[in-house]
Amino acid sequence: MRKRYLIPIIFTILFSYWWTHRWKYIVIHHSAGGYGNIEFLQKVHRERQGKDPIDAIPYHYIVGNGNGLGIGVVKSDFRQGWNLWGMHVSKNNVDRNFRGLGICLIGNFEQKHIAEKQYVALVKLTKELMKKHNIPVANVSGHGYTKGESTKCPGKHFPMQRFLQDIR
Ligand SMILES: [Zn+2]
Repeated sequence: MRKRYLIPIIFTILFSYWWTHRWKYIVIHHSAGGYGNIEFLQKVHRERQGKDPIDAIPYHYIVGNGNGLGIGVVKSDFRQGWNLWGMHVSKNNVDRNFRGLGICLIGNFEQKHIAEKQYVALVKLTKELMKKHNIPVANVSGHGYTKGESTKCPGKHFPMQRFLQDIR
């Protein structure tokens, strides 16, 4: 093999490694609706973020609430598969969009409490991702609890304090 091929090959390997290992944050969201699955959120995404060049939901994982998707069932689309960024927080937190995994709980926790089964699935998923990507508790946040964000997401009934304890 000629030497000049070596540099792009090494670059590609290093880049792929960095790309799949760049995750540094986890942000928790709610869908703000009682019903949801990948197809439904896809439709919402097309309506709200029509300019997104990536035709996939803005989150890397969704956790079902038993209405549209089984309770506690975790699903992803190709955004997660290709390790693509997602605009799940505002432009104030570019790094959390680019290097933050977005988890969306189906449901509206501004109005309702989260069911235990869905909550337990979220804790399990978050802990797995923290372990896999070496993400500290300090880098895990609820959307509205993140500095620079002004939103009620994931809702006032989401047990944030308990969650931060449980993922420790
Ligand atoms: Zn959110």
